[in-house]
Amino acid sequence: MQGKIAIEEHFAYDSPDADTARRLEHADSWAETARRLVDFHDLRLKDMDATGIEYAILSLNAPAVQMILEPKEAIEAARRYNDFLAEQVAKRPDRLGGFAALPMQDPEAAAAELTRCVKDLGFPGALVNGFTQKHVPDSVIYYDGPEYRPFWACVEALEVPFYMHPRTAVYERAQPYEGHPWLFSSAWGFAVETSLHVLRLIGSCLFDEYPRLQIVIGHLGERIPYDMWRLDHRIKTIPAGYPARKPMSAYLRANVHITTSGNFSDSTFRCAIAEMGIERILFALDYPMEVMADGANWFDNTPVLTEAERLKIGRTNTIRLFKLPLAA
Ligand code: ZN
Repeated sequence: MQGKIAIEEHFAYDSPDADTARRLEHADSWAETARRLVDFHDLRLKDMDATGIEYAILSLNAPAVQMILEPKEAIEAARRYNDFLAEQVAKRPDRLGGFAALPMQDPEAAAAELTRCVKDLGFPGALVNGFTQKHVPDSVIYYDGPEYRPFWACVEALEVPFYMHPRTAVYERAQPYEGHPWLFSSAWGFAVETSLHVLRLIGSCLFDEYPRLQIVIGHLGERIPYDMWRLDHRIKTIPAGYPARKPMSAYLRANVHITTSGNFSDSTFRCAIAEMGIERILFALDYPMEVMADGANWFDNTPVLTEAERLKIGRTNTIRLFKLPLAA
C-alpha cells in the first residue's frame, strides 16, 4: 500500500547509546540501529520510499527525558530535543512530523512544553516513555496521581493524543526479572510496564474526569486486547474498590488507540481488531528497532484486512486522530 503513515518511529539526539538495556538487547545489530537512530534524511527516507510510507511522526528513543533525575535538567533537555526535532521536520514537512518529548518530572512544566510544541512547533501530539524517575534512581512515578490532573486537563484542552511508549523497569525494582535478562525489556517487560500504566490511568477515573482524552499505545495494545474480557469479568467479580464509572473495556474502546508497532502477527492482529475495532488501530513500525520492510510488507500483505480496512489503519485513521495536513 502506498501512502502509509507510521507513528512510532524513533530518533536519538546526541547519544543513541543512552538506553543500556536496548543496546544490550540489540547487541548483534546495535551499530546499525544506532546509525539509523541519528539519521533523518538519508537511510530513513530511502526506506520510506521503498516501503510505501509517505509520512512518519518521529519521537525520541526510550527512555530519554523520563530517566533524567533532576526536573530542571529534564525541562531543558526536552526543550532542546523538541527544538532539534522541529528543525529536522522543517527540512521535510511533507514526509516527517514530530511528537513532543515532555519533562514529566514537573507536571506544570510538561503542560507548558506540550503547549509550546503544539502551538509554536506544530507537533500533533506527545510521546512519553512511560513512568518518570525524579531525584533518586529508584523512583518510579506514574501519571495517575492527583499532581498530574492539571497536565491531563491541558492535554484534553489542546485536543492532541498522548502516546504512552514503553520503557524498561528501573534496575533497583526489577527483582522479578533477576537472572532472566531476556524478559527485561521489549520481549516482555515493556508490555507489563505500559499496560499497567494505562490500566492505572483508567482505574484512577482519569477518563471520567477528562472524557475526550486520547491515549495511544503500541505493540498491538501491549497485550491488553487479549485480556479485555477477563479484566471486566474479574473486576466485576472482585471490585476491590475499583472506582471508575464504567468497565475497563468501555474506556479502552473510547479513550485508547493502539498501533501495530513491532508486532506483526496475524493472529494477534485479529484479536486486537475484534476487541478494539478497526477505527482504533493505527499503523506503526518501531523503526529502527524493527526493520522497516518487515513491518511494511507484513501490513501490505496480511490477509486479516480488506483493502478498505488497510487504508483506514494505514492512513486515514491517523490523519483523523492527529488532524494531519494530509489528504485522506
Ligand atoms: Zn518504540
